[in-house]
Amino acid sequence: MSASPVPDSMPRPASNSDFSIHNIPFGIFSTAKEPALRACTAYGDYVIDLKMMHNLAFFKDLDFSVEVFAQSTLNDFIALGKEKTAAVRLRIQELLKDDRAFGLFFNYCAVSMEEARMHLPIDIKDYTDFYSSIEHATNVGCLFRDPENALLPNWKRMPIGYHGRASSIVVSGTPIKRPFGQSRPLEDGGDPQFGPSKLLDFELEMGFVIGKATKLGQPIPIAQAEDYIFGMVLFNDWSARDIQGWEYVPLGPFLGKNFASTMGAWIVTMEALEPFRVEGPKQDPVVLPYLQFSGKKNYDINLEVIIQTDDFKATVCESNFKYMYWNMPQQLAHHTVNGCNVNVGDMYASGTISGKTKTAYGSMLELSWRGTNPLPMPDGSTRKFIHDGDTVVLRGYAQKDGIRVGFGEAIGKVLPADPVV
Ligand code: CA
Repeated sequence: MSASPVPDSMPRPASNSDFSIHNIPFGIFSTAKEPALRACTAYGDYVIDLKMMHNLAFFKDLDFSVEVFAQSTLNDFIALGKEKTAAVRLRIQELLKDDRAFGLFFNYCAVSMEEARMHLPIDIKDYTDFYSSIEHATNVGCLFRDPENALLPNWKRMPIGYHGRASSIVVSGTPIKRPFGQSRPLEDGGDPQFGPSKLLDFELEMGFVIGKATKLGQPIPIAQAEDYIFGMVLFNDWSARDIQGWEYVPLGPFLGKNFASTMGAWIVTMEALEPFRVEGPKQDPVVLPYLQFSGKKNYDINLEVIIQTDDFKATVCESNFKYMYWNMPQQLAHHTVNGCNVNVGDMYASGTISGKTKTAYGSMLELSWRGTNPLPMPDGSTRKFIHDGDTVVLRGYAQKDGIRVGFGEAIGKVLPADPVV
């Protein structure tokens, strides 16, 4: 009888892996050999098949059906509730520490990341995009309005946001077609321009996923808001600045935003992010009581944006989620204070996450200062906005006391626009 594999021979994650034992994110994958979509976690360079783990009875005592792992989305798993999903994560961690169990489930359940195809992990019912970085809102205010009064009077009073388009959120790796659309006439009173967007941009954001539904008319009190948040993802809110600039008055973003957003394939749970809680920026003036909170509600998550072509790879932005002025419980409390309901799988994005320094700006709009400061690229070219053929890569990870919890990447390659007319 063969012995279980020797611990030394087991492929443990490298120390700089996003997918350490401290993480255990959730996703949906398939392989060429087994094309049915199913739930998984990530460990080092491997995807671990949770349906197979369930079939091998590793979750037997946790008392839930294997069906929640045998679906094309994680919604039913997430809907089990935090108590159960956290227990699943803990069980996986225990098994990873147990050499014998690890040997067994590694042999049956692990697939190399190269073999795994990742899919959109949730059926997104609704999507809201906030505007919660004070540096971003200030930069945009300076660029488009008045540097002396960059923030509008409402900005420090509530988390500003808009309802976005859920249907066009795609998983990392999905190509993004440059959108067509109208933009401002060359002369006042003239006909609008029409064609492929000339000012295609990324927005460095993070999203959170709702884990518990409410009924219409049931606000979420801020002290309970964290109970409703399952986990977080990387999020690139692609933006066509020329389309946006012409259409946004008076009702806000529309076709400049709804052609695509890219989300990371891995949902990192709030339990995994617990060690990385930090204080947020001081809020002044004091906010209304329904937005007041206690404790550390921000998270120290390093963020990076890379522009990549066949010839080079250039980091254009390094920011951090901890810069957010409005935190997630405030966003959720505000979103529901009027009785608006939430559903499992809803996506709430942060808004562009900019920092104070010029290399921490989370969009090309800010990095190139509306095109006036083109960014030099390693091949001698420059970028004001994103070119056809450019791949935009978002990365994010938290690290502290030797613990690393990462989000992987949110990748999108920009393809030329298709002719419309
Ligand atoms: Ca946005």
